[in-house]
Amino acid sequence: MVTGGAGFIGSHLCDRLIDLGHDVLCVDNFYSSTKSNVAHLLGHPRFELMRHDVTFPLYVEVDEIYHLACPASPIHYQRDPVQTTKTAVHGSINALGLAKRTKARILLTSTSEVYGDPEVHPQTEDYWGRVNPIGPRACYDEGKRAAETLFFDYWRQHELEIKVVRLFNTYGPRMHPQDGRVVSNFVVSALNGEPLTVYGDGAQTRSFCYVDDIIDGLVTMMESPREVTGPINLGNPGEFTIRELADLVVELTGSASGLDRRPLPVDDPTRRQPDITRARESLGWAPTVELREGLERTIEHFRTVLA
Ligand code: NAD
Ligand code: UDP
Ligand code: UDP
Repeated sequence: MVTGGAGFIGSHLCDRLIDLGHDVLCVDNFYSSTKSNVAHLLGHPRFELMRHDVTFPLYVEVDEIYHLACPASPIHYQRDPVQTTKTAVHGSINALGLAKRTKARILLTSTSEVYGDPEVHPQTEDYWGRVNPIGPRACYDEGKRAAETLFFDYWRQHELEIKVVRLFNTYGPRMHPQDGRVVSNFVVSALNGEPLTVYGDGAQTRSFCYVDDIIDGLVTMMESPREVTGPINLGNPGEFTIRELADLVVELTGSASGLDRRPLPVDDPTRRQPDITRARESLGWAPTVELREGLERTIEHFRTVLA
């Protein structure tokens, strides 16, 4: 079962699991996605799509749960912040309850946002983070922190087989063109010949991981020995300023677009870079796709979508 399976990362995960020979139940309420991401799988005999909101209980028989359901971009998760916290907390309780009854392994896609605006750089998993609990990002950040708490309490209290990964900024084909994330915004603007919107001075950094690498990490984590619970960072340590990203997108698209400076959003983290020592050592995982190559593939996708 893949909750959030119709989303950007979830739909790539469904593809991979089908390729690996699994029967896949994709559960999604299409809050921040559309059926089009999984339309190509609809006729497949081992694929099933269920419209369901994970904040409500679900009784099905499964043996592995990838729990991704949660809006992930600031525009989406801030549109209905109360629903975001409900999805993170009630959704995780229901997924964990289901895992408990069926004895399924369960994996949570947590986030680098649990580190907030970090004072430790790069971020290691033992860093507890610096999150504003009452700001506009808190519904997502604190929601995911509570979800992690629930996973580890179900592990301690009910001996569930849990797997917790913290994903850093992920990009690639099937990102929602209007979800406001920086890679999709920049690529769409560049292809449309519009200015790229740089928030603040563009000196803030992010580390961008191509989606195929993240899918390798998710599947490897699910298959890892029982004692590997995480949390484990999954991301690409290559760190770029937002200005550098803008310049690269302009170069790779061959666009004549300029830059348009906008105010920096509240609580926007200044720096972000994963320490992936734990992923290398426990999973033998490291990303393989460089930003330039991943952006080329992403631009190719958006050229088709926007055509
Ligand atoms: P996405 O918005 O494309 O996908 C999330 C999916 O969850 C969507 O299909 C949405 O409709 C579904 N969903 C939301 N609320 C739901 C609910 N109540 N019931 C059922 N389905 C619901 O986002 P994504 O980028 O694919 O993110 C997937 C997961 O990875 C999320 O858990 C996110 O927090 C995590 N993550 C993503 C990134 C990233 O850079 N993309 C970084 C860190 C963590
Ligand atoms: N749950 C679910 N599917 C199941 C089993 C449980 O959706 O197959 C939900 C149910 O709503 C429950 C929650 O998961 O409240 C937590 O389950 P748990 O067994 O931990 O607690 P309890 O049933 O005692 O509330
Ligand atoms: N950003 C930007 N222009 C945009 C969208 C985002 O400069 O059009 C910046 C944003 O302020 C942040 C970084 O890019 O510093 C990454 O933003 P995104 O929303 O993609 O991810 P997150 O902030 O959740 O890491």
